[in-house]
Order: sequence, then C-alpha cells, then structure tokens
Amino acid sequence: MIIAIDGFSACGKSTLAKNLASKIGYGYIDTGAMYRCCTLIMISNGLSIFQELELKKQILQSKIDFKSINGENVTFLNNKNVEKEIRSVEVNRWVSEIAALSMVRKLMVEKQREMAKEGNYILDGRDIGTVVFPDAPLKLFVTASHEIRVERRWNELQQKGMEVDKTEIAKNLKKRDFIDSNREDSPLRQADDAILLDNSEMTREEQLDWVTERFKKVNA
Ligand code: C5P
Repeated sequence: MIIAIDGFSACGKSTLAKNLASKIGYGYIDTGAMYRCCTLIMISNGLSIFQELELKKQILQSKIDFKSINGENVTFLNNKNVEKEIRSVEVNRWVSEIAALSMVRKLMVEKQREMAKEGNYILDGRDIGTVVFPDAPLKLFVTASHEIRVERRWNELQQKGMEVDKTEIAKNLKKRDFIDSNREDSPLRQADDAILLDNSEMTREEQLDWVTERFKKVNA
C-alpha cells in the first residue's frame, strides 16, 4: 500500500511521514531529496539550468538512494552522504527550477515508482497523489501558515548548525511555492481525493495521532 503526502515547502510533511512510517512499519521515500540531488548534480558539475542534455547525462550516471543510519533516513548520492549538502542555501535557491524541468521529473517519477514497487511505502512530495501514485488509497495534503513554516524551517536549520536569515527563508519558501504551484508539468495541487491537514496549531504528536486514525480507517 502507498500513502501519499503532498503539500507546500516546510510544512512538516517529512517529519510526519517519517514518524508515521516508523509507527506503522512502512518504508519512507523523501522525493524532495531526490530533486535536491539533481540540483546538487547540476551545481557540482558546474552546469547551468540551460544545459539540459548534459544534466540528463549526469543524472543518468548518478546513483541516488537512501539508507537508514541510527534510525535516521539519510540521502546518498553516488555512495556519499549528501544529507547536509542537499539542504544548503545554494540547493534551496535552484531546486524548484530544476524540479520544473520535464526531463528531470520523468526520470525521478520513474525512479520513485521503481523504488516503491514492492512493499508498503509512504512518499512525501508535491505530485505523489496527483501523478506518481494517483491510485494511492490514502492521500494527505499538508499545509500550515507561512509564518509558522518560516519559523519551523529556521529552527530545523539552527538545529543542524546552519545560520540562515529568517527573511531569506521566507523569500525562498514563497518563491519555491510559487514555482511549484505554477509549473506546467505536474504542478503542486491537492488531489481531489486527498484529505487536507492544516497543522499550523498542531504538535507533532497530534498530527501523528490524526494521521494514524486516517490510516486505520483506510486499512480496516
Ligand atoms: O520537499 P522538499 O522541500 O525537500 O522539496 C524540494 C523541492 O523539490 C520542492 O520545492 C519542489 O520544487 C521539488 N519537488 C517536486 N516534486 C516532489 C518533491 C519535491 O517538484 N515530488
């Protein structure tokens, strides 16, 4: 069974997805991390967004995968732990533009379907319920107020030892939400059959209880 969790940037989708995955024993696929890896591939090869053919070649030659280390989901690019690099300011700046390229989306969607083809998985992203797994029996669309999302992202980066200005975070989130919602290929949308979760006023535990109840109903 597939659980699709989509929504805006920094509204806690991945925390919720990870918590639910460990509670119900499902695998977890962070599809945002995969687009972040494609962005890192562009940057580290000194490419520009206009060099699509070269970027495609580099992506095809690269290995993107996830490993669980001490209970944490860690992203690997060509066998290197890139968890910190893919969350950098530079990657944040470019990721939505890279993710808007149809070539990149096609490659990542194929990979996501392949990764989740056996077993039970929770995927979080922007197009899971609408494009990647439109038949998923449980779909959530997560949102939270802009101020709360900025605060949460700032806290998360602080905890990782990264000093980032709140105004910069706010600008980046607005820009990414705009590009993600307005791109031609698979724009960010709430699927017709997705349940809306506004978690602005909810703790992590409350969100987990809420989603566990939905899961039990679907699984009954
Ligand atoms: O979820 P996260 O913030 O890490 O995603 C980074 C970016 O990757 C998003 O802003 C979006 O541009 C892109 N993305 C996407 N489709 C997905 C997941 C992420 O376009 N399924």
